[in-house]
Amino acid sequence: MSTYGVNDVYGVDELEATGRAVVEAHERGHDLGEWRPINERMRVAGCRLCGQLVWIVRPPGDEETWRVGGNAFNAGCERGFGKG
Ligand SMILES: [Zn+2]
Repeated sequence: MSTYGVNDVYGVDELEATGRAVVEAHERGHDLGEWRPINERMRVAGCRLCGQLVWIVRPPGDEETWRVGGNAFNAGCERGFGKG
């Protein structure tokens, strides 16, 4: 249960990591709900439409760099995609 599956590495601070996660998820049609802290090193937000997740993770040993990942980045939102 230690595999986060982080597939994108940005090397940014927490605020910017959160912002990028929101923007990237939105570009795929997701509508993220509120961020929930899993622990000191991980925050998770789920799409309100399809339930897929995005997260930011601060790897052990790195006190400043947050990484962005999530299964919501692997595909567009099933319910939000194609809107308009
Ligand atoms: Zn979605």
